[in-house]
Amino acid sequence: MKGLTSAEAAARLAAEGPNALPVPGRHGLAAIALGLDVFDCAVPTRLARHGTALVPDPASRFRVNLRRSGFEGDRGPIADGCPCPACRHHDRDYLAYLSRAEELTAVRLLCLHNLTYMHQLVGNARAAIVAGGFARYASAVMGGAAPWAAIRCSCEPGP
Ligand SMILES: [Zn+2]
Repeated sequence: MKGLTSAEAAARLAAEGPNALPVPGRHGLAAIALGLDVFDCAVPTRLARHGTALVPDPASRFRVNLRRSGFEGDRGPIADGCPCPACRHHDRDYLAYLSRAEELTAVRLLCLHNLTYMHQLVGNARAAIVAGGFARYASAVMGGAAPWAAIRCSCEPGP
């Protein structure tokens, strides 16, 4: 289905069974809304290799580059509430230091964070679909709520 938009490709999907999309990028939730079930994406690990972490911030295109300056003394995690080991045990200052020094530990920790972020994003999308709150979940995430926070408000009764 090369050369088609996501919507054009979705129109050709099988009604039953899994449908796959390679490289969903930042349009993953839109692809899920169109009916895609499976993704194959290297973005989380590629970003990590370049010192970039996924964050719930649409103003920064949902990513932060820790190799840039400005994280000195920042004692917060990459993303508040993230259950990954990097966010539970390390702060942005330390991770930025490791990343600028090109320590492999930084790549490992950022990979753990980015893969956890994506796992939370799609896992909670699945839970929101089951609960009938996917549109609210997707809207909250695209508005800047973390996936682990957005699932709570998407499963509550709507207005
Ligand atoms: Zn994390």
